[in-house]
Amino acid sequence: MAAKTIAITGGARGIGYQTAEELIRRGHRVAIGDVDEARAKEAADELGLSVVTRLDVTDPDSFRAFLDRVEKQLGSLDVLINNAGIMPTGHAHEEDDAVTRRQVEINVLGVIFGTKLALQRMLPRRSGHIINTASLAGELAVPGLATYCGTKFAVIGFTEASRQEYRKSGVQLSTVRPTFTNTELVAGTAGAKGLRNAEPQEIARATADLIERPRPFVRVTRLAGGMVAAMKFVPGR
Ligand code: NAD
Repeated sequence: MAAKTIAITGGARGIGYQTAEELIRRGHRVAIGDVDEARAKEAADELGLSVVTRLDVTDPDSFRAFLDRVEKQLGSLDVLINNAGIMPTGHAHEEDDAVTRRQVEINVLGVIFGTKLALQRMLPRRSGHIINTASLAGELAVPGLATYCGTKFAVIGFTEASRQEYRKSGVQLSTVRPTFTNTELVAGTAGAKGLRNAEPQEIARATADLIERPRPFVRVTRLAGGMVAAMKFVPGR
């Protein structure tokens, strides 16, 4: 496949980092943006990236500056992967208000801002692909992760509505829906009962395959038989 210009939010570690590595291996031009500037710079050195920017997805100006820089240095944006996300744990009624707000801002608003900004660049060219990272927790209720679940259901709803709205525009929209995956995000938790965690490399490969063969979504589960009937989050180990 022809090399594409691909920007990944939250690419300093975890699934975003592995996705950057996989896409570079497949010959694409990749840029990462992350709120953790120090780790993003280390990641860029490790991956040999020329574009790495401090990015806060909740700030549209910061997002615009990131995409401007990507296009200036690597060429027109072909794919945006809205991967940045957080998963604070704890019962909803005990959650600090600031934590609740930040979760919604990063996981939902960040994805919506990114999608809008990418659409503004892609629609005039009638091409491009926006991939929003949801979760299996965006399809199934996960007791113990109510706020997070709410944000991921929102990502799926927003992306699916946008996909239908822009279906004739030449711009693809899709979601990646990973099961629990071994990254810092889930460190200190026991994941989901009855489910084996995936490795970030598996999500990275699924995302890279999605770019090569666009579909409305790709779901990664680690249970024989495909769909999981229920997930129960187990806090602590
Ligand atoms: P991670 O914590 O390993 O990495 C997330 C990255 O996002 C970090 O580098 C962090 O600095 C960055 N980030 C956080 N806030 C940001 C902001 N405001 N602006 C820019 N960057 C920001 O997490 P991960 O496990 O790699 O998760 C990546 C995505 O996959 C998230 O959207 C997460 O919800 C989703 N997901 C993860 C799992 C899992 O079990 N790990 C499962 C399903 C979905």
